[in-house]
Amino acid sequence: TSFINIENIRNDFPILKRKVHKDKPLVYFDNAATTQKPIQVIESISNYYLNYNSNIHRAVHELAEEATLAYETTRDKIAKFINAKNREEIVFVRGTTEAINLVAYAWARQNINKDDIIVTTEYEHHSNIVPWQLVTKEKGAKLEYIGVDDNGELILDHLDKYLATGKVKLVTFSQMSNVLGTITNSEEIVKRCKKYGARVLIDGAQSVPHMKVDLQKLDCDFFAFSAHKMLGPTGVGVLWARKELLQEMVPFNGGGDMIREVHKYETTWNDLPYKFEAGTPNIADVIGFSAALDYLDKIGMDKVREHEIELTKYALDKLSQMKGIILYGPKDATKRGGVISFNLGDIHPHDLATIIDEDGIAIRSGHHCAQVLMERLDVSATSRASFYIYNTKEEVDVFIKSLNRAKELFKI
Ligand code: PMP
Repeated sequence: TSFINIENIRNDFPILKRKVHKDKPLVYFDNAATTQKPIQVIESISNYYLNYNSNIHRAVHELAEEATLAYETTRDKIAKFINAKNREEIVFVRGTTEAINLVAYAWARQNINKDDIIVTTEYEHHSNIVPWQLVTKEKGAKLEYIGVDDNGELILDHLDKYLATGKVKLVTFSQMSNVLGTITNSEEIVKRCKKYGARVLIDGAQSVPHMKVDLQKLDCDFFAFSAHKMLGPTGVGVLWARKELLQEMVPFNGGGDMIREVHKYETTWNDLPYKFEAGTPNIADVIGFSAALDYLDKIGMDKVREHEIELTKYALDKLSQMKGIILYGPKDATKRGGVISFNLGDIHPHDLATIIDEDGIAIRSGHHCAQVLMERLDVSATSRASFYIYNTKEEVDVFIKSLNRAKELFKI
């Protein structure tokens, strides 16, 4: 597309040069699951292990100081990237899943009581459903759902109905659906929740990698995302939470680094955010994440978004002309991310993904960790193509051609 220099970008991703099934160029359309990594990220990790590998925070030697600086600098970059007010509000975790579980354990278990309500949505990933089932069952509280309409958007009347009971303590939703691509009207939801004093957690796993996110504008209470969906390594993610909340929350894990003083029977906690970072963290991958943030910053998140809108619009136009296709989610590419879920005739998504894999195309098929949404859509599975900065219109053409081959095979 015209928004980014795609050739230069593709050159930074060694994996895009490989062939699959002997001689097929790789078309990687499974970016909602995890993205590929540019050479800058790969090299920053190996550079750490080659040149300054050491544990952080405690030692005074030069290697430890370099490692600590690189690790802590990543925290500053993240705060800037999502426009958080304080670096102490950035807690490193393993990923979105761990971030949400941290809130469920260290905040919800202390603040949710019998008959309270937690509200989530029908288009959540399992990681934003199961932790709330665990907490509400334990506390005798209720879990309620904001429904999804036929255009793939949340039905906010449902939220209003629950808020009006005065019992809602927490509302939690993803800023972008990993199946429908829907971009949630997050600021509006936060505004409504505030009137009733309900806390808000936003799952940013699919939004932060693909659009500009401004936490001060969003004004939520908790925010979670993963590095591996935005060019970074696996095993690193972020929980952002309001300082006041982190201060009153109980620790999630106990151990080294999260303490100030330990006595036989009593311990005092370290300052934020270290109170929530027990044990030796994933130093190398946090440093790798730093390089991923630099990479995205250099392109600019507005450009990333524009590129994906153009690619999604191009793909949606072509797909919607295909006989027998059902497309899920908003029709307007400006209201959604670069995630396209669909079903083609009665071909099972796993069969479809297998056929187009023969042509070198990697897509995802299945329930996408969103079985509640599958039930709502009344399907057992969908196929899903998802784009990122290195994908091209030519790749979309290859994808369409391959889908047509599948149609012929299945006589659709
Ligand atoms: N929420 C959403 C919307 C996601 O797409 C994902 C990843 N598929 C997750 C949460 C979980 O992220 P992770 O596996 O990195 O913890």
